[in-house]
Amino acid sequence: MAAAHAAGRLPHALLLHEAPGAGGDWLARWVARLVLCEHAAGAPCGSCAGCRRVIAGQHPDLLVLQPTEDSQQIRIEQVRELAQELALTSHQGGYKVGILSPADALNRFAANALLKTLEEPPPQTVLLLVATQPSRLPATILSRCQRVRVRAPTRAQAVSWLQETRGDGDWNAVLDTLGEAPMLAAQADPAAIVEVAAEVRRALDEATSGAADPVATAERWARADLPLRLRCIENWLTERIRDHFGGHAFFTELRAGPYLPRAVAVLNIRDLFGLADSVRELKSSLEAPLNRGLALETLLRQLERTAGATSPSRR
Ligand SMILES: [Zn+2]
Repeated sequence: MAAAHAAGRLPHALLLHEAPGAGGDWLARWVARLVLCEHAAGAPCGSCAGCRRVIAGQHPDLLVLQPTEDSQQIRIEQVRELAQELALTSHQGGYKVGILSPADALNRFAANALLKTLEEPPPQTVLLLVATQPSRLPATILSRCQRVRVRAPTRAQAVSWLQETRGDGDWNAVLDTLGEAPMLAAQADPAAIVEVAAEVRRALDEATSGAADPVATAERWARADLPLRLRCIENWLTERIRDHFGGHAFFTELRAGPYLPRAVAVLNIRDLFGLADSVRELKSSLEAPLNRGLALETLLRQLERTAGATSPSRR
């Protein structure tokens, strides 16, 4: 990309298609620094005023569009504002850059408005669309962007990068919990993640053997780190679903860690999918004013019941 820029052939619009947390935002800001850096040679230098302003999120020629908090969408007013800004002369006499992240949060009207800018881009502008699910964008938008696939680094690369930038920690366990998302892991407290993951695992194992207190557990989980805990519950269910399909060897190879599944109650596959659906529902209603404690308690009882139903002798 640096070579394309040096040759004056940087496209007007790039779609950065990333795996979740793989670094699409980071790459978008890197391209912003590339074109806004004050040094033509060796850009982005990382130390000039232009680069430093981008890093601080305060460059007047860089506009970042994110979903509004209430709608979780990028709205048409935001896109219109961006289009107006891009049409003006840049503050520094160089490029103007717009980042839309996640671009798959553009609603239909906003996408239509953006199309106008993509069709007739003002000179010296770059639009960067960061998306994990580009298929959710209209084909008219996709056809006007050059696509760049941002792949997640390998596990070994991610761990060594996290150790370099964040210091020591059980980064393998953090990535086991959060998925292959090093940028997400970089913002996490590794010790806290490992602790929550271990606690959830213990509680779920206990629930399948009927040794848990669903009320106390649900109350504790509803109070803190709920999205992380739901993620941990999903991981736990995924492991068991994989076991059912004979994926045990594959699984341990993929995510060997301190948490190799020990022999727990046999849950049948339909129950496991039923539980996974309940977790998905809980996740999608996180913002809604529902009684989270009660929903979690129901989930734990569902687990207890299904485990008890398949091995009635244990209780
Ligand atoms: Zn610079």
